[in-house]
Amino acid sequence: MTVQKILKALILGAPASGKGTISSRIVKRYNIEHVSSGDKLRDHIQKQTELGKEVKSYLSQGKLVPDDVMIKFMVSELKKVQDKSWLLDGFPRTVAQAQAIWKVEPVNIVLNLNVPFEVIIDRVKNRWVHLPSGRVYNIGFNTPKVMGKDDVTGENLTQRPDDKPEVVQKRLEIYESITRPVIDFYKEKGILTHFEGRTSDEIWPKVIAHLDPIFEKK
Ligand code: ATP
Ligand code: MG
Repeated sequence: MTVQKILKALILGAPASGKGTISSRIVKRYNIEHVSSGDKLRDHIQKQTELGKEVKSYLSQGKLVPDDVMIKFMVSELKKVQDKSWLLDGFPRTVAQAQAIWKVEPVNIVLNLNVPFEVIIDRVKNRWVHLPSGRVYNIGFNTPKVMGKDDVTGENLTQRPDDKPEVVQKRLEIYESITRPVIDFYKEKGILTHFEGRTSDEIWPKVIAHLDPIFEKK
């Protein structure tokens, strides 16, 4: 009898550090669930749910959604996938969120992406997303086959309102002051690994070298 290992992984990194791109490669390679707080919130906004209405202005201004709202939402989202292996992306973003989630779902693996800030600023200018799926394209790096259209569905791509330069600046400031301490939280738990690079293609081989043995993939 084999015991199915359930892995709870987390990816950290500055806004637009490539978390979304690396995450989608990870969930595909290891066949695990992708739980992206940003994608889930954008989905609620698009569907104009109560939560969507509540959080909309935070996202468009590049501000963090308040901890109480965020924790309640993500704890319930993670309950839905508690029997599966998952990769959490975009949450936690504050030490309070990290503490809350540690109590209900202690994670085993934490990956931190280190990308220079000037690369990040440059990258968001060229970023397009397919809202329904969360697929991300970067002009000049992974350019869509047809400009402005999703490769899989052919539907329209859009630019996120929070990818405007002044909003990106705000998100980076918040990251520095509020989210960076989350790295230390996991460093102290001894489960953090750093991955450096300017592009996702540079980072990706390092990520699989780390994860393949853990997921027992040859
Ligand atoms: P990228 O996905 O390119 O790395 P990002 O991580 O900044 O960029 P998302 O994770 O998609 O973007 O989050 C978008 C917005 O959603 C945030 O700017 C914030 O307003 C809100 N948000 C998402 N996750 C959280 C969270 N854990 N706590 C508070 N707000 C959040
Ligand atoms: Mg994201």
